[in-house]
Amino acid sequence: MSTQSLIGFLANSLKYGHDLAKTRVYTMTQKTPLYEGKAKVIFEGPEVGTLIQHFKDDATAFNAQKKEVISSKGILNNYISEHIMMAVGELGIPNHFISRISDREQLIRKLEIIPVEVVVRNVAAGSICPRLGLEEGSMLNNTLVEFCLKDDSLGDPIIAPEHIFTFGWATPEELEIIVEDTLRINDFLTGLFLGIGVRLIDFKLEFGRYDTEDGVEIMLADEISPDNCRLWDAETNEKMDKDRFRRDLGGLVEAYQEIARRLGVKVPEID
Ligand code: ADP
Ligand code: UDP
Repeated sequence: MSTQSLIGFLANSLKYGHDLAKTRVYTMTQKTPLYEGKAKVIFEGPEVGTLIQHFKDDATAFNAQKKEVISSKGILNNYISEHIMMAVGELGIPNHFISRISDREQLIRKLEIIPVEVVVRNVAAGSICPRLGLEEGSMLNNTLVEFCLKDDSLGDPIIAPEHIFTFGWATPEELEIIVEDTLRINDFLTGLFLGIGVRLIDFKLEFGRYDTEDGVEIMLADEISPDNCRLWDAETNEKMDKDRFRRDLGGLVEAYQEIARRLGVKVPEID
C-alpha cells in the first residue's frame, strides 16, 4: 500500500469508525472502504460476494455543483430503501439487499454495476421539462423509460438503447430483463405510494450482474428512497423528495420522515 493510500485508508477508518463500531459482528479487516460516492460509501463485506452500503448525510444536486450535509438524511434513506427493496424482493424481482445491519448500513450483494441509469417517468418533472419544453406536472401519455450513461464527468448524458449495445454496456437480452423489471417496479411502487396518498412522479434505478453457480443474474442495485424518486403529496402536490433540497424549499428531513411514517417504516428518533 502506498503512503498516500494508507493515509486515505486511515482517514476513512476514522471518519466511519463511529458507525462501524455499532456493527459489532464485523471485524476491522472487513471494513475497507472500497468507494466513496456522493451519497454513500461502499465497504468490503464480511463474506466474498458481499458489500456494506453506508448511507451518508451528504446531499448533492446538479451534478454535485450544489452540496450540503443534511443531518439524518442517510438514516432515513437506509430505512426507507430497506422497506422498498424487501417489498420488491417479495414481488420476485431479484435485488442486492440482504439485511440492514445498523442505522446507516446495509449488507448487500456485490454486483458488477451496469453503467446505465434507468429513469422512469409517469409525470413530467425535472430535467425532461426544459429538454422537451414540457410543463412540470403534465401527465405523460404512457410511462416513459429513459437511459442515461452513469458518468459524472460527462454529466450523465441521456443515451439510446443502441448506445448501450454499441458500447457493450449491456446486451439486448440484459436490457430486456432490466426494462421488464423496471416496469413491474413502477406498477408496484405507483400503487404502494398511491395507497399512502403519494404520487410517484419519477425515479431512477441501477442494475448489476451477480455471478451465481447457474450463471449471471441481473439484479436491482443501489437504493430506492426519496433521494432518487420524485414523490408528491396526492392532495396538495407538495414535494416530499430531494427537490426540497434542489430547490431550497427546506423541510427535507420532515418530508422523508413523513414518507417513512406513511409507509409504516419505524425509524430511529431524530432531533
Ligand atoms: P454515486 O456513485 O453516483 O456518487 P452513491 O454515492 O450512491 O452514488 O454511491 C453508491 C455507489 O455504489 C454507486 O456508484 C452505485 O452504482 C454502487 N452500487 C450500488 N449497489 C451496488 C452493488 N450491489 N454492488 C456494487 N456497487 C453498487
Ligand atoms: N435521479 C437520480 N440520480 C441521478 C439522476 C436522476 O436519482 O443522477 C432521479 C431523480 O431524483 C428523479 C429522476 O431520477 O427522481 C429523474 O431525474 P431527472 O432526469 O429529472 O434529473 P434531475 O432532476 O436530477 O436533474
